[in-house]
Amino acid sequence: MDRRTFLKTSGAPIGAAALSGLVPHGAAAESLAAREPARAESAAVHTTPRASVVVIGAGAFGAWTALHLREMGHAVTLLDAYGPGNSRATSGDETRQIRMGYGDRELYARSAQRAMDAWRAREAEFGVPLLVPTGRLQLSRDWTPALRATEAMLTRLGARVEAMTQDDLRKRYPQMNPEGMGVGLLEPGAMVIRAKQAIVTVAKTFTQKGGTIAIERAQPGRADGRQLVDLETGNGTRVSAQTFVFACGPWLPRLFPALLGSRIKVPGRDVFYFGLPAGDARLAAPNFPNFSEDRYYGFPSVDGRGLKVCPTTGPTTFDPDTDERIVSPHEVHRARAFLALRFPSLKDQPITETRVCQLENTSDEHFIIDRHPDYDNVLIAGGGSGHGFKHGPVIGNYIAKRALGEATDPAFDAMVKMAR
Ligand SMILES: Cc1cc2nc3c(=O)[nH]c(=O)nc-3n(C[C@H](O)[C@H](O)[C@H](O)COP(=O)(O)OP(=O)(O)OC[C@H]3O[C@@H](n4cnc5c(N)ncnc54)[C@H](O)[C@@H]3O)c2cc1C
Repeated sequence: MDRRTFLKTSGAPIGAAALSGLVPHGAAAESLAAREPARAESAAVHTTPRASVVVIGAGAFGAWTALHLREMGHAVTLLDAYGPGNSRATSGDETRQIRMGYGDRELYARSAQRAMDAWRAREAEFGVPLLVPTGRLQLSRDWTPALRATEAMLTRLGARVEAMTQDDLRKRYPQMNPEGMGVGLLEPGAMVIRAKQAIVTVAKTFTQKGGTIAIERAQPGRADGRQLVDLETGNGTRVSAQTFVFACGPWLPRLFPALLGSRIKVPGRDVFYFGLPAGDARLAAPNFPNFSEDRYYGFPSVDGRGLKVCPTTGPTTFDPDTDERIVSPHEVHRARAFLALRFPSLKDQPITETRVCQLENTSDEHFIIDRHPDYDNVLIAGGGSGHGFKHGPVIGNYIAKRALGEATDPAFDAMVKMAR
C-alpha cells in the first residue's frame, strides 16, 4: 500500500494548525497523504518494511506509541477527537506523578524505573522542562503489607527509600501535622511530570519527525474477515491503514461496549489546588514531597499553582465527553477538612484552581494491552487505572512493538491481557 492510498477522505482543505503538522477537524487526510512523504523522508530513523499505522487517541498511551512507531520508521497518523493534551483527556491534567513504589508489583516498579530514565532523556532531547524532583511520602497509620512490600521492592531495585516514625515526620516536616500517622515511607527519587505540557511536546516532536496528527473522532469502519480495513471519522470520511491502535483511555468502553464495557469503569475525580500564603514556600516543591494516605493524595505547589489535593472516592460514573468539569460541594468540604488537619497553615487559604478528571479503571488496576479478539490488525491499549501516565515513554515503545507483532516480555504480555 502506498501513501496515497493509505488515507482516503473527503478532500476538504487543510487549515491553520496549532501544532506544526496538526490538522484541524475536517481536514483532508488525502492531502495529508500527499504531503507526508517529504516529511517522512526527513525523519532520522528508517526500518524496512514500513508499516502504515493509525493510532487513535493522543493521550499518554497513544502519543508515545505514535512517536515510537514513527521513530521506528513507520508511516504513522495520530487521530484525536479533541487534540493532544486536551482537557477532557485523562492525560490532560497539568501534573502527574512518577514513582517506583508499587507494593509487590515488580513489573510496574521496573517499568517506572526505566520510565524515570526515559523521561530524563526525553526532557533533555525535547529541551522542555517537564520534570520537577519532589520525592514521594506515603503516610500510614501503621506498617501495612503493601508498605513493607514497597520498601523491600525499592531496596531490591536499588532505589533510595527512607522509613520514618511520627516523631521523625514531625522533625523533618514541621509544615505538616502527622497526627494519626505512625509511619512515613519516603521515596526521594519520585517526581512530578508536567503532564499536559509533556503530551503537547510529544505530539509536536512526533510531527517534527514526520508523523501526521489530525483532529478527528474515529471509530472502527469496514472489515474484511479478521482485518479491519478502515476507520469512519466524525466528518464521514474513511481512513485506511495496515494496523490500528485504539488508545482512547476512558472512551474505550464506549467504542467497544461488548468487549470493554464491563472491563473498564470510568469514575470522576475532583482535584483541588490551594493557594499558599504569601511569602510561604514551605509546601512548594522542592520543600515538600508528593504525599499520599488513605483516601487523599497530592503534590506540593509546582509552578505557583498551590498545593494539589485529590480526595479519592468510591465508584461514580463520568461521561468524558459531556459531563461538566465542576467540582462538587461535598468534595470541597472533604478537601478542606483534610487540609485543616494535615496542613493547618492552608486552612483559610483559597482554592486557586480545580479540575475534574476521570479514571479508566480495570478491576485489578492492570493495564489492558491486547489484540482485539475479532481483528488481527487492531490493538487496544488503555486501562491506565490511575497510574498509567508515568509509564508513557516505556509503554509507548511496548505498545508499538505489540502493534507490529514484535517480541515483547511474555510476563508483561500476560499481565496486560484483556481476559485474565
Ligand atoms: C485524578 C487522576 C490522577 C492521576 N494521577 C496519576 C499520577 O500521578 N501518575 C500516573 O502515572 N498516572 C496518574 N493517573 C492516570 C493517568 O493519568 C492515566 O493512566 C493516563 O493519563 C491515561 O492515558 P490514556 O492515553 O490511556 O488516556 P487519555 O489521556 O484519556 O487519552 C485518550 C485520548 O483519546 C482521545 N479519543 C477518545 N476517543 C476517541 C475517538 N473515538 N477518536 C479519536 N480520539 C479519541 C481523547 O480525546 C484523548 O485525548 C491519574 C489519573 C487521574 C484521573
